[in-house]
Amino acid sequence: MVGGVNQDVTVRVDRRPTGGETTVGEGPVVGGGGKGANQAAAAAYAGAAVRLCAVVGDDAAGQEQLGSLEAAGVDVSGVRRAADVATGAALIVLTPDGENSIAVGAGANALLGADDVERALAGGDVDVVLAQTEPGTAPVVAAAREAAARGVRLVLNPAPVEGLDLDTLRAADPLVVNEHEAVDLLREHDGTFASHAPAADLARPLADLLDCPSVVVSLGAEGAVVVSGAVGSRRELRVSSPRVQAVDTTGAGDVLVGTLAARLADGADLTTAVSEACAAAAEAVTSAGARGYLG
Ligand code: ADP
Repeated sequence: MVGGVNQDVTVRVDRRPTGGETTVGEGPVVGGGGKGANQAAAAAYAGAAVRLCAVVGDDAAGQEQLGSLEAAGVDVSGVRRAADVATGAALIVLTPDGENSIAVGAGANALLGADDVERALAGGDVDVVLAQTEPGTAPVVAAAREAAARGVRLVLNPAPVEGLDLDTLRAADPLVVNEHEAVDLLREHDGTFASHAPAADLARPLADLLDCPSVVVSLGAEGAVVVSGAVGSRRELRVSSPRVQAVDTTGAGDVLVGTLAARLADGADLTTAVSEACAAAAEAVTSAGARGYLG
């Protein structure tokens, strides 16, 4: 797993503050986060042996994140501790509907480089390389290059989406995005895209644009859409998510992505892997915090 590690600071409010406004709520709850860390923890929870490649600060938050990842069963030997920089942080505002708004300060994540990725991959056999873009695009480009050189499957979660080149996106099998990221990717790379298409209809144009082997678009409570196969013989499949009472949807997509990568590393076919990943993500939204489901 190549990705970001953050300290999450969550405040629960009745109503999301608008610009210039302060609302007082419950909390803060301080916990483990970062999309890379969350996905690594989810993959470990799903039974995979996971090595995380990331950078944290040489501060108390970094120490705490490493401890909690180790407790989650993640190998953190590929996580570098950098001096004089803060561990990344996410400021999360949660409303009663379980929805969230998040502001992220990258901190030490921005120091993750191609050499960190090369070192982590040199550490042993790998079945799947999972990468996300919180630490920037350079480590993800390196992850895609190293995966291709080793003939290893790349699962790519371009979140945030900006700035990743088409060749890297095309190397994904699958590319996994939520509906907002799907729209942003289409807007960034397809000058003619101006669609107000339903979220469930975004996977096919994305697969057409990228021509990568497979695309998964997650749809919140509605599950996910999977498109796979070459142009002309593409298959599209809708996977539903179990109905649950959502308490906190923070990190739902990360549980989906991490579980999906773990199942693929296990040899599962893509549809089965997405279906099990949706079930794991649905379970995760029934508890508070991005990694609250870990107990
Ligand atoms: P993100 O967390 O990136 O915004 P989504 O909101 O699409 O991603 O959620 C990812 C996955 O989490 C979904 O595909 C689904 O399986 C599960 N999920 C999210 N919200 C709910 C919900 N309210 N009920 C059941 N499952 C959910």
